Amino acid sequence: MYNKKAYELGSVRSVIRELFEYGKARAAKYGADKVFDFSLGNPSVPPPQEVEQAIVDFVATTEPIALHGYTSAPGDAGVRAAIADYTNERFGTNFTADYIYMTCGAAAALTITLGALVTPEIDEVIAVAPYFPEYKVFAEAAGATFKVLPITRKDFQIDAEALKNTVTEKTAAIIINSPNNPSGVVYNDECLKAVAEVLGNKSAEYGHPIYIIADEPYRELVYGGVKVGFIPNYYKDSVICYSYSKSLSLPGERIGYIAVNPEAADAKEIYLAVMGAGRALGYVCAPSLMQYVVGRTLRLKPDLQAYERNRELIYGGLTEIGYECVRPDGAFYLFIKVPGGDDEKFSEKAKEYGVLVVPGTGFGAPGYVRLSYCVAYDTIKNSLEHFAALYKDFAD
Ligand code: PLP
Repeated sequence: MYNKKAYELGSVRSVIRELFEYGKARAAKYGADKVFDFSLGNPSVPPPQEVEQAIVDFVATTEPIALHGYTSAPGDAGVRAAIADYTNERFGTNFTADYIYMTCGAAAALTITLGALVTPEIDEVIAVAPYFPEYKVFAEAAGATFKVLPITRKDFQIDAEALKNTVTEKTAAIIINSPNNPSGVVYNDECLKAVAEVLGNKSAEYGHPIYIIADEPYRELVYGGVKVGFIPNYYKDSVICYSYSKSLSLPGERIGYIAVNPEAADAKEIYLAVMGAGRALGYVCAPSLMQYVVGRTLRLKPDLQAYERNRELIYGGLTEIGYECVRPDGAFYLFIKVPGGDDEKFSEKAKEYGVLVVPGTGFGAPGYVRLSYCVAYDTIKNSLEHFAALYKDFAD
């Protein structure tokens, strides 16, 4: 016997995985230069050199038993204090180590936070389309009913009026991801203020806080001086899920954290619930060496120039062909409207040109496809003629 739900989750076809396999097979047959793989969100710039140096230094200078041993469950106290201090310095907040919990990346941070906030009575979790597809998996694993706030605005900013109609007395939390995967959109000041107002009013009406879970793996990946609003400065009942996967190009090292806003109602209890949810999921502690490394290197950023250059080329190139898309201010994704409106058909047809793009349906946004532009500059340059041919195919 085995768990049927887990079986379904494990055996369901992964579109991105299939694209990846297809790309590998095509590269073997026709050559790697005939594949234009925009499917994966794996950073294409290396971690800052100081990160690798920190790993070497820790290994060279620290007693192995101490270096590779467990830390306390929420993480090393010094590392948590460093994160709290840096956050306060940047955003004028009042975090302390006692509100920071180290995790295996944002995925674990989200799973644990949802486990801490969802209850059998107040069990709805809202994701804002377009959204990272794993949210549904994480929310349902926490026993939540997953709800989607559909796209209504052309600029992909959150529609506060629509949110008002989606929130109910059973809403536990809304997940906000800015800069956004898959659109690259950064929610602006006006949008965040409007969301905060709706949730504040609804919390008062229903007599319990409706939390914002801010999923922030792309916080540092913004271009042209655009400001990413820090959610606790807009809304007190908030929890941050942060990751170094993209900001330090360390996705395989599995390191990030949860920061419970100390100003939240019941902040201390939420933090303990975070500890409990992590414990129940079997998270003993985040990888120790990586905790120490990010504790030392958390002020660094990857080479944003490479992403910015890619963004200019792909956004400029595709819009010149005629594709419609919101200019992304952050992350490394572009979400284009599909000519003809059928995202799955478009993605299938694109494969014939060796172009791999992910249909928007899985992101709660049929009619769009996602392109990850964390690829080599030449991959973008050489793909443009194929995008032009594809556009023609669908325009006819
Ligand atoms: N949230 C979003 C929006 C993401 O795009 C990703 C990864 O791509 C994650 C969470 C999970 O990131 P991590 O590697 O930190 O678990």
